[in-house]
Amino acid sequence: MSLATRFLPAFLATLENFAERDYFAQAAPDRCPDGHVYFWDETAIRKTLVMQLGVAAWPLADADAAAMSDEQVIEYMEAFFQLVAKPTESWFHSYCGSSHPTKFDIASGRYDYTVSVNALLDRFGTGLRLQNGKIRSSGSQVMAPRLAEALPFGGDDHLRGLVTMALVDFRSPDPQKRWNALRHGGRGADPPNPALKVPAVRVLAVVWVCHGPRTGRLLLAFRGFGHVRPLGPLG
Ligand SMILES: [Zn+2]
Repeated sequence: MSLATRFLPAFLATLENFAERDYFAQAAPDRCPDGHVYFWDETAIRKTLVMQLGVAAWPLADADAAAMSDEQVIEYMEAFFQLVAKPTESWFHSYCGSSHPTKFDIASGRYDYTVSVNALLDRFGTGLRLQNGKIRSSGSQVMAPRLAEALPFGGDDHLRGLVTMALVDFRSPDPQKRWNALRHGGRGADPPNPALKVPAVRVLAVVWVCHGPRTGRLLLAFRGFGHVRPLGPLG
């Protein structure tokens, strides 16, 4: 399922919420009849997006949004991270009946944005996380620290190379790279030397952790390792 199907409409609604709380009023403000900043301005948003992405449509028509690739949705998530700032001071303008922010805190705005976007990414089971303004593949939060553990390679440099490549690609938001990672992991799980089978199963467990149980089980079945359990703490 692509991000555009369910995640993107929820993300756009979240952006609207931030706009209503003036989180974009520093980078791309609309102005009241007296010229005071608030909310967001569509043309200003489009301009800042184009400056970051080169080509960008804003606002997004429903049909355009539905046709967006995951890479495009990710670009928008990262671009809006650059725009948010939390209003810290504002005053009420009785003439227009709105409050207008006068001071902003970028770090707080980015923090709030990151928390909200990650809650959405979790809710829709995307396997992605926003971290320091960049989208990364999260795998399982419980198991992710174990990716950093040393794996037993049995002195096999080829296996070490495959796993190293796989771990780099696992963290990419690009689905093609994650698929490559799966292939590298799969090759590592089918070593020519039977003595490497235990480390190979550890590798397979990493694949399982990163890609979810369904893909992992498919690979287990495909490789004929169905009778072998992942060992140690990974089990
Ligand atoms: Zn006003």
